[in-house]
Amino acid sequence: MTLPTGAQPMDPERLLALDAAHAWHPYTTTSNRDPVYPVRGASGCEIELMDGRRLVDGMSSWWCAIHGYDHPVLNAAATDQLSRMAHVMFGGLTHEPAVGLVERLVRLTPAPLQQVFLCDSGSVSVEVAMKMALQYHQAAGRPARVRFLTLRSGYHGDTFHAMSVCDPITGMHRLFERVLPKQIFAAAPATPFGSPCTNADIAELASLMHHHEHELAAVILEPIVQGAGGMRFYSADYLARVRRLCNRHGLLLILDEIATGFGRTGRLFACEHAGIAPDIMTVGKALTGGYLTGAAALATADVASTISAGSPGAFMHGPTFMGNPLACAIANASIDLLLSRDWAGEVAAIEAGLQAGLAPCRALPGVTDVRVLGAIGVVELDAPVPMRAVQRRFVEHGVWVRPFGRLIYLMPPYVISSTQLELLCRVTRDVVAGLGSGRIAAS
Ligand SMILES: *Cc1c(COP(=O)(O)O)cnc(C)c1O
Repeated sequence: MTLPTGAQPMDPERLLALDAAHAWHPYTTTSNRDPVYPVRGASGCEIELMDGRRLVDGMSSWWCAIHGYDHPVLNAAATDQLSRMAHVMFGGLTHEPAVGLVERLVRLTPAPLQQVFLCDSGSVSVEVAMKMALQYHQAAGRPARVRFLTLRSGYHGDTFHAMSVCDPITGMHRLFERVLPKQIFAAAPATPFGSPCTNADIAELASLMHHHEHELAAVILEPIVQGAGGMRFYSADYLARVRRLCNRHGLLLILDEIATGFGRTGRLFACEHAGIAPDIMTVGKALTGGYLTGAAALATADVASTISAGSPGAFMHGPTFMGNPLACAIANASIDLLLSRDWAGEVAAIEAGLQAGLAPCRALPGVTDVRVLGAIGVVELDAPVPMRAVQRRFVEHGVWVRPFGRLIYLMPPYVISSTQLELLCRVTRDVVAGLGSGRIAAS
């Protein structure tokens, strides 16, 4: 392959200098930046740095790359679609990749979900879901129902309405106080996954629903796993009770499955643990197998027909890249690939590997909890992790893990080998031990 003019590979020094000068990374300052590691490529379960070092991936690039990188099936889907069309607008036009995707999503998600609104990112799908809930009540003659009830320690994205339902402490409420809509928060569920929920644990949520019913449009939460807001796993029974409470108070239930969808928790969708269906569901992240941005908000026939029957007689949203054929074709291939594999067996094997590999961390100083669910393993510490030092140590030992707050967590691609998983766990144990003994400290 010949590179087009101007596309000569950059040497790493120049790349890092330009990056430092002009590239804004997620949640960073432009001064005093954390180091970034230049990547040359990625394949299977490995990320290859420009200096030739290979890192075993413990992050799936933020929950996305469930099949690993450079997968021949997804590559073929991308090139095949590219040879037909990269994109056309979805207003007034339709195509096989998009229709194939909405058909798959309706087939795989709980039965009541019948209408799919494709959109460009997770945060946008959350905005869409919340807007659907507002339009639903508006159309049904309940215009006062404009607020949302949610849980502390949640995370739903970085756009404005999404931010308004993120955890009020770790989210950005203080910063944007004057512009964020004020939502209603209940304590995060305390009942762990696998245990029946007590009345006491759900009492606050139930009471908030009771007192705010007249002004609430919906409850929005992450089912079973609260991800970026704290990596907490909670009782399926709690979730089932939330469903019943929503029914009682005429509230829609929005489940944000952006992180949990497509098998990560051991079920295809986390709500299956509770045997419930939401009125609106968001999916993203692993939807497109880690190749391109893509997300969707799914709604029941009731939500869709109520919105459609009300004023202005349409759902008022329409992203430019809605239904992007490339993203949809890759999503279809990723879903088919997932279903063709024994994904549940793979996730169960990872769960067992994480349990065995991380359990020894419990005995290490500074560790307050070790928890595993599906292909997610979490070590919680009693103090914030010194990110730069820890990141450097992980890289030196050949793994890619990016902790946040007091958490070091692993969520590898489902295709990870047992040897690679053992390496991830071993290095995690070493790093946690180094933190506890003071050998790894902030630099
Ligand atoms: C990542 C995430 C989002 C936001 O998705 P983006 O694609 O980053 O906008 C929303 N909700 C949950 C549960 C997520 O994990």
